[in-house]
Amino acid sequence: MGLDTKVQFVHGVGPKMSERLDKLGIKMVRDLIYYFPRTYLDYTKVTKIGEIAAPAYGEARNDNYTIKAKIINIANRRTSRRRFTVTEAVVADDTGSLKVVWFNQPYLEKMLKSGSEVILNGKISYDNFSGQLQMESPTRTNFPQIVPIYPETVGITSGYIGKLLKAISYQLSAVREYIPEEIIKKNQLLPIQEAIKLLHFPESSQSIEKARERMAFDELFLFSLQKQLIKQEILIHKAPKMKIDEKFLKDFVESLPFKLTDAQKKSAWRIIKDLESDQPMNRLLNGDVGSGKTVVAAFAAAVVIKNGYRVALMAPTEILANQHFQTLTKILEPLGISVGLLTLANKSDHNLPDIIVGTHALIQEKVKLTNLGLVIIDEQHRFGVNQRDKLLEVRNGLRPHFLSMTATPIPRTMSLVVFADLDVSVIDEMPADRKKIITRTVPPQGRDKSYEFIKDEVQKGHQVFVICPLIEETETVKENLFEEDRKTVTKESARLQKEVFPDLRIAMLHGKLKSKEKETIMANFKAKKSDILVSTSVVEVGIDIPGATVMMIENAESFGLAQLHQFRGRVGRNDLQSYCLLFSSSNSETARLRLSYMESISSGFELAEKDLESRGPGQMYGYVQSGFWDFRFADIGDRIMIEKATEAAKVVSQSIDKYPELVEKVGERAKHLE
Ligand code: ADP
Ligand code: MG
Repeated sequence: MGLDTKVQFVHGVGPKMSERLDKLGIKMVRDLIYYFPRTYLDYTKVTKIGEIAAPAYGEARNDNYTIKAKIINIANRRTSRRRFTVTEAVVADDTGSLKVVWFNQPYLEKMLKSGSEVILNGKISYDNFSGQLQMESPTRTNFPQIVPIYPETVGITSGYIGKLLKAISYQLSAVREYIPEEIIKKNQLLPIQEAIKLLHFPESSQSIEKARERMAFDELFLFSLQKQLIKQEILIHKAPKMKIDEKFLKDFVESLPFKLTDAQKKSAWRIIKDLESDQPMNRLLNGDVGSGKTVVAAFAAAVVIKNGYRVALMAPTEILANQHFQTLTKILEPLGISVGLLTLANKSDHNLPDIIVGTHALIQEKVKLTNLGLVIIDEQHRFGVNQRDKLLEVRNGLRPHFLSMTATPIPRTMSLVVFADLDVSVIDEMPADRKKIITRTVPPQGRDKSYEFIKDEVQKGHQVFVICPLIEETETVKENLFEEDRKTVTKESARLQKEVFPDLRIAMLHGKLKSKEKETIMANFKAKKSDILVSTSVVEVGIDIPGATVMMIENAESFGLAQLHQFRGRVGRNDLQSYCLLFSSSNSETARLRLSYMESISSGFELAEKDLESRGPGQMYGYVQSGFWDFRFADIGDRIMIEKATEAAKVVSQSIDKYPELVEKVGERAKHLE
């Protein structure tokens, strides 16, 4: 038996169990070893009963405690409707006593005898009737230990996985180290065997921390190394070298109806330098919505086309492709450049233009994109790496230059990892003529006035977005009784139509709709066929709705700042004054502070850094959801770890031939991600 033995041959696994394990992605012994606990139940951190902090009135009952106590008395009782049994006990230590309840486990009455000592772990809540503190359905153990909790599925419990791991624990010695020793030493990492062992068979919470640190380092290091290797590989091939016609470019800039910002000029200059070289350009243009990335891309395209090559621009949706097509036509056709559009809805044009704009139809159709000098991809994270590579194919020994664009403001440290294979140009400045979007946090009592304001705006022919965090009621998970329900798109749009805006046209958009339906709804909104669009966070990034002046966000506290900022970017894409109204009923001081940043800060990058400072699940969710951050152990906000791991990857990549195990490991990882 070895790491590559099928898991069904492990003692205690039959055909049925192996099928279930398969559902968890566990096929080989190796997979089992790399199946890590989701969390731990720590029976070693005991709190005295007298020191249990009562949850504040109205606060979430999420505090978990471990107590070591004696059973004073214990008895079963039937609930009034005789539907189930409640076992009630009173337990005590030398600081106080506490009520404990279990449901439908009548055998506990016999098992836990009065006078015996137990260690219990459970949530503390208020008893609904007496208002007393109680511990609800705790788990128990007889001796202090830390129990790993694994992700489970039907028929596979955490305990079962733990047993299997014990049975194969001797296989751990077959796991080979792949990180070079000098890096392990320099970063004071645990050896891989040791880290894996501690995750499955923890000795203390500190040792779990140390093990998690090693795994986090691995994730960041391998990911960055892979990107470094991609970067090296790109440079193996040459790209067509462009000649720069300064007069032509000056005329081009003169022909624009506006003056370029300094940030645009700087990025354009870097791009010129890249294109002049015979090394393939591999650059990311990162700038807020509305910062003017398209013009810079058009500038690059003009250079390449002037040199006799063709350009392809790929966007994630038809609407965005259409939008780019229109903008580029306006800018480039006066220069005698032909612009074409290729989407699934429009595949007739087979005369290849100088620049072809499209969706993924560009790579699906049998279009022969010959003579490509430059590939531009908008919102590249929405495409797979393979799709990008298809466009970037080497032809006649030459690889096209590559320009990627994104409007997601990524915090600086995070970009070290996620954009490690790219040179990054940031457009951190908005065109001067842009009106600042007025942003206000609205308390519950300001709601009616806001609706009046919205009516006035619509009267003027303007449009309004309403963002809700959820789609429908079933998702609503109340944290506690006192919390206001989080708004859902279905209920809120019905309510607005019936009670608030009976005369207005309200449309609805969310992620459960087919992408075709979503596009139609967006296109209709753009065409002013509706006044108000009630939507979840799916509402397209980068789309121009010139008539929209109000962005209203419900339960604003449940979104990250960068995400709120992206919503805000949907309005103000015209010369009208626009508004962003943040609705929140949260009393929490931190929530209020975060929302006040939205009022005072208009840069997406600054807000992204604030996200990191106050990082919490809500704040970081936006990055995970948009596919930018997808690690199990690595923490988005751990700047020191990110810097260490990316630095190590850079160093190692310089002499990668010395580390065959590492190359193999990176390959394995890449295969996993396909
Ligand atoms: P994004 O970076 O979101 O892709 P766009 O390139 O679509 O932004 O530009 C948004 C709008 O701003 C467009 O209408 C564009 O013509 C205009 N624009 C771009 N650069 C400038 C500038 N320097 N001054 C004024 N308007 C500009
Ligand atoms: Mg854009």
